[in-house]
Amino acid sequence: MKSKYRRTAFGVENLPMLVMLALSVAVPVSLIAATRPNILFIMADDHAWQAVSAYGDARHLIQTPNIDRLAREGVRFDHCLVNNSLCGPARASIITGTYSHINGFYNNSGDRFDGSQSTFPKLLRQAGYQTAVIGKWHLESDPTGFDHWEIVPEQGVYYNPPMICDGQQVPHSGYVTEIITDLSIDWLKKRDPAKPFMLLCWHKAPHRIWEPALGDLDFDHDRPYPPPATLFDDYAGRGRAEHEQDMMIATTMRLNEDCKLTAPPDLSPGQRKIWDAYYAPRNAAFLEKKPTGKALTEWKYNRFMHDYLGCIKGLDDNIGRLLKYLDETGLATNTMVVYSSDQGFFLGEHGWFDKRWIFQESARTPLLVRWPGVAKAGGVSGKIVSSLDLAETFLQAAGTAVPDRMQGRSLMPLLKGETPPDWRTAFYYHYYEYPAWHRVRPHYGVITDRYTLAHFYAPDVDYWELFDRKNDPEEMTSIFDNPAYAQVRANLMQEVTRLRTELKEPAKDDPKACGYPAQIPPNL
Ligand code: CA
Repeated sequence: MKSKYRRTAFGVENLPMLVMLALSVAVPVSLIAATRPNILFIMADDHAWQAVSAYGDARHLIQTPNIDRLAREGVRFDHCLVNNSLCGPARASIITGTYSHINGFYNNSGDRFDGSQSTFPKLLRQAGYQTAVIGKWHLESDPTGFDHWEIVPEQGVYYNPPMICDGQQVPHSGYVTEIITDLSIDWLKKRDPAKPFMLLCWHKAPHRIWEPALGDLDFDHDRPYPPPATLFDDYAGRGRAEHEQDMMIATTMRLNEDCKLTAPPDLSPGQRKIWDAYYAPRNAAFLEKKPTGKALTEWKYNRFMHDYLGCIKGLDDNIGRLLKYLDETGLATNTMVVYSSDQGFFLGEHGWFDKRWIFQESARTPLLVRWPGVAKAGGVSGKIVSSLDLAETFLQAAGTAVPDRMQGRSLMPLLKGETPPDWRTAFYYHYYEYPAWHRVRPHYGVITDRYTLAHFYAPDVDYWELFDRKNDPEEMTSIFDNPAYAQVRANLMQEVTRLRTELKEPAKDDPKACGYPAQIPPNL
């Protein structure tokens, strides 16, 4: 067991005396349970921190008042990183608290999560918590470690999504974000109040193909969205990986499904009418004008922003509903509420959508934690934290031992506004999946407060990049070969080696882990 992080498991200063008493004398289990915090972990799929107003929203994309409330009443983490910026692998890392090479889930394509391994939901359940996951799971195998689970199959759909409830398929009518919220509130109502709960409310939104609630379609009144400065990036100053990717708004994003020139197949006739009333006249205007070149990319960018941010509006509204339920039932005072995303997302930066890269838009994710009486209200931490840290944070909050296998670190001190002197200053990152989707080459590296170092190593490349984000915040020009950075480069290379050893990375990366075939198909 991880003794150095367990020491404050029953955090002397913050947990009620009752718990301390319960440890030494016979106290009914229900009484102990009442003192441990409930855990509500709300996660979005692909919610970029650039689209959370609590993070400054430099492009004025959207207001997220309910998510911002968590920042105001809790701690906002400004540099939360994921270890493998891809849906399935990120989720496997979150629930196991381990890197992909430990939990075995490297890629969305072809991997299946081994549900027999240790996860925080299992450990919390063993410790007496009632556990549930409702929403998107996306780990191929059925959830394990839950008293109740109700998930969308695979990626799920936005409108009228069928779900799988404890193994049985159940039809639903309506919009996925509202349904997941309804089911979460229903489960909270039905739970056994004598036990603490741990609920994963894991949304599908705003994952591609970004379909907002029908009632929200006109939410932005056709406002134009300011494009990022790098929408027409030419990738000069960077290597083959950037030049040969396939995730561009200009060329990869499809006019039909992605940009809604065609309607999704899962709408009822009544819903289709509402959908057409919004999209049909706008699509007709587009087809009449037939923009090309940069004008076409700008049109696609604006349609993408409308659809993506419409999904965020639905998310924020529904998070508001859930928080209101906690308020009305009095649960808010003893519930740790976490809001995060499985990874970040490009919103047109470098001309891209999607994630995968070690770069900030992708590897960084929102993280807000509200826990009355423990997390400092309005606190802000710029320290490097990770979604890998959540498992250990939850276990410590519940007073449960942390297995040695876990590779993060409890956020408890940072929540209280304290920074341990040995807190991490560099974070190891490793992405594998290639070529599908988007042809982003496998790479690993480290991220520090100032620098990003990456090694692109497969299947037919072998080169490094280094970015100084203080002077080049958009990570546009690699200074790996710049002699002025020789010492920085040497230090960071050493750090990569140290972290690979510490994290038990295989000495040589197994190409099979990357999932790429012997013959790489041409661009999709
Ligand atoms: Ca995702």
